[in-house]
Amino acid sequence: MSITDRLLNLYRIDQQIQGLTGRVQSARRYAQTQAQQLTDLEARLTAARTQSRQLAASAANLENDVRILEERVESLRKRMNEASSAKEYKATLTELNTVKADRERIETEAIEALGKVDAMNAQIAEIESQIEQRRKVYDVAAAQLQREEDEIASRLTELKERRAEAVRAAPADALRDFEQLSRRTDGEPMAEIIEEDRRRQEYCCGACNMTVPVEVVSVLLGRSGLANCPSCRRILFMSDELRQHFEKRLAGRS
Ligand SMILES: [Zn+2]
Repeated sequence: MSITDRLLNLYRIDQQIQGLTGRVQSARRYAQTQAQQLTDLEARLTAARTQSRQLAASAANLENDVRILEERVESLRKRMNEASSAKEYKATLTELNTVKADRERIETEAIEALGKVDAMNAQIAEIESQIEQRRKVYDVAAAQLQREEDEIASRLTELKERRAEAVRAAPADALRDFEQLSRRTDGEPMAEIIEEDRRRQEYCCGACNMTVPVEVVSVLLGRSGLANCPSCRRILFMSDELRQHFEKRLAGRS
């Protein structure tokens, strides 16, 4: 097997591994998104519950103020009934009217505050129902992720064993090139030579589409070393069909 074929074998295995893990990755991303939304909703619930408690406390304070003012109204009415002079009666009446106005104002504030507590509690119920729904979605997503991980587990182990074999079979320097290119190209270190025009002997790189000179194609045909795309540096390989065509032509010449 030529070095190119050995690397191509490794490349095919890597592509299968990528395909398998890619499928699980999208399931993982989806489950993570659901988990994040659940966390956000729970944070909103905590904040809303705190706000509700604070609003309820200030409503209770206002209601307490109303009670104190009512007691004051009662005692002023009593004093008016027991007034010994018209002057005292009039002074008490003025005070009574002031206290009644205060009570009305604070009563209004208390009703408003209770309304805010109700609104906040309705918001809490809404968030709670959203959490319940989101949790169901999350549970389904987590189960799906687990299923997919289980499904690929044995296949992935097998592929990793085959990959280790393929790595052992490749020369160290070629392997280093392969791994470097793989990192740089996001897991696509190899490209097929595409025949653009048979008669004119025009070829291009299957990854970057730039021209590959016929001299580079000859290197591949010779099976002696690696041929890189002059533009993107990917390691080039040739389909069996194209190789057979060249071999037939060479046979025809001899
Ligand atoms: Zn290229």
